[in-house]
Amino acid sequence: MAAGHRLPTDTDDGLLLIISGPSGAGKTTITRGVERSIPDSVFSVSWTTRPRSPVDVEGVDYHFVTDEDFEQMKALDGFLETAGLYGKKYGTPRAWVVEQLVRGRLVILEIDVEGAKQIKSHLPEAYSIFIMPPSEETLLQRLRSRKREDEASIQKRYSAAQKEIAEGKRCGVYDLFITNENIDDSIRKAVDAVNAERARRRR
Ligand code: 5GP
Repeated sequence: MAAGHRLPTDTDDGLLLIISGPSGAGKTTITRGVERSIPDSVFSVSWTTRPRSPVDVEGVDYHFVTDEDFEQMKALDGFLETAGLYGKKYGTPRAWVVEQLVRGRLVILEIDVEGAKQIKSHLPEAYSIFIMPPSEETLLQRLRSRKREDEASIQKRYSAAQKEIAEGKRCGVYDLFITNENIDDSIRKAVDAVNAERARRRR
C-alpha cells in the first residue's frame, strides 16, 4: 500500500485488531467477547464464497457471495486482504474497515495467518493476537464436540490447525499469544491488552 493510503491508526484512536488461531481454539467466542467488552469496537464482517451453514447469519457472521462477486470486488481492489481456505475464498472489505478506523473505532478482524501477514506487511501498526488451544488433545476434543463434521473432516481440520499454530508461532506477525484455558480469562486478557495498547498509543 502506498504511503498516501496509510490508515490513520498512529494519530487517531482507531486501532486495527487481528485475532487469529486454529479452529477449535475458541477464537470466535473470544472475538465476540472482546467486541461486547469494548464499547467502540466493531467486528469486520468478511466476504466469503463458502456456503452458509445453518448456524451462520448473513451480514453478521459473513457476507455470503458468489465467486463472481468476490472476483469483481477483488479486481476493484476492494479487499484489505484475502485468503483461500478449504478451497473457498475469504476477504476483508477495505472501504468499511478504513471508514471505521477513520472514525477512531477498534476494528476487529477474525482472520487466518495468511491474511494477518498481508495486513501486517502494509499496516504494521495493526495489533495482533493469536489464540492457542491449551493442548493438542483439547483441540481435538473441541473439534469433535462441535459435532459439525464427520471424523475425516475433523482430522483434516486438526491437521490444518496444527499447521496454523506452527505458522502463527513462526511468522513473527503476532504481538500476543493467549492460551485459552478458560474463555472468560482469555477475553479479559485480550481486552486488557487492547486497552493497554490504545493507552500507550495515546501518550
Ligand atoms: P470458517 O469457514 O470456519 O468460518 O472460517 C475458516 C477460517 O477463515 C477461520 O480461521 C477464519 O478466521 C478465517 N477467516 C474468516 N474470514 C476471513 C477473512 O476475511 N480473511 C482471512 N484471511 N481469513 C478469514
